[in-house]
Amino acid sequence: MAAESKDLPAQGRQLIRNIGLLLSGDLDQPIVDSDCLLIEDGVIVGFEAGDVDSEIDAQGCAVMPGLIDSHTHPVFGDWTPRQNQLGWIEMNVNGAVTSFLSAGEVHLPGRPKDAEGVRALAMVAQRCFQNFRPIGAKVIAGAPVPELDFDREFYASLKAAGIARIGEIGLGTVAKGADAARVTGWCRELGIETIMHTGGPSIAGSHLVTAEDVLEAQPDVVSHINGGPTSIPHEAVRELCKHAKGALEAVHNGNEKSAIVAMEAALANGRLADFLLGTDAPAGSGVQPNGMLRMVTLLASFGGLPAEQAICCATGNVSRKRGIDQGLLARGRPADIVFMDKPEGSSGKNVLEAMAMGNIPGIGAVMIDGKMRTGRSRSTPPAARVPSV
Ligand SMILES: [Zn+2]
Repeated sequence: MAAESKDLPAQGRQLIRNIGLLLSGDLDQPIVDSDCLLIEDGVIVGFEAGDVDSEIDAQGCAVMPGLIDSHTHPVFGDWTPRQNQLGWIEMNVNGAVTSFLSAGEVHLPGRPKDAEGVRALAMVAQRCFQNFRPIGAKVIAGAPVPELDFDREFYASLKAAGIARIGEIGLGTVAKGADAARVTGWCRELGIETIMHTGGPSIAGSHLVTAEDVLEAQPDVVSHINGGPTSIPHEAVRELCKHAKGALEAVHNGNEKSAIVAMEAALANGRLADFLLGTDAPAGSGVQPNGMLRMVTLLASFGGLPAEQAICCATGNVSRKRGIDQGLLARGRPADIVFMDKPEGSSGKNVLEAMAMGNIPGIGAVMIDGKMRTGRSRSTPPAARVPSV
């Protein structure tokens, strides 16, 4: 399917009715007692029926916000040089992901490391993905990776160029605590979000970042607290969940045992709202279109977290901690909506019970900005029920 350069929201008023289970993405109230959603010009405007131009019958499916992958490494287009693979973003939309946050365009072959080149790359990546949305996907890119010779003026120039997030500290030459703390300090003053690689090197040439480094720098997001892919010791994961001030992120391309350790430690410290999910895709472990669904299901099954709360870690939590509109089924939010059900053949009375057993949901359709972008998913097992448009 061709991507559109100007991807405008759906126009007019739409009603989604006959919703079996309405999952809001909001940890404070993850299940909403309503069976319909009213949408106007691609934005959610209510939970009751009204005069509309068109209707979608959810056929009893559950709906949830489109998942937000808190940690990705896009380059340009729907191509990744990491695995030399085409169409990874489109396939992730089939896996219920509607938004992708870049943690750095680090896989670009021959990527520049000088200040001018790094800033230029970030600007081009950001602008390209604003104009290029594979089947409607929202890729928030342009995340420059800090190097030791970049001074405060460099970060001020990023801000002036419209770049409000940097890539992972630790993927470049800035990796140790004091160097990283200088960068996070400047960025905090300038209103730029900071994220920091945590754990062993991801690939030859990147660096080990320890819990001590993270605690000294106090980034806004502790990127892949469960390693990307190599984890710090479990005791250090627990220390970070207690003392790191930023959001705590676990990824699919990480250590699954450490992801559960981190989730339990976040819960024990009353910090589930700080717990975010991502994939780190494309990564050494490849591109898994169902990676986000697998992470949510991991928390709901091995982690024992109620599935409706696990979904919040991939939706509303990311929305709030990272300052983006989408990720909540609430008034005034974009109508980025996933229709899902338990997969055919799964026991459990609904999709939440299926997930608690460790089965990923079947995705019946994905809507972005009020427009249906997929029918039955090409990447998940078949949903027991799908919506009819
Ligand atoms: Zn990383």
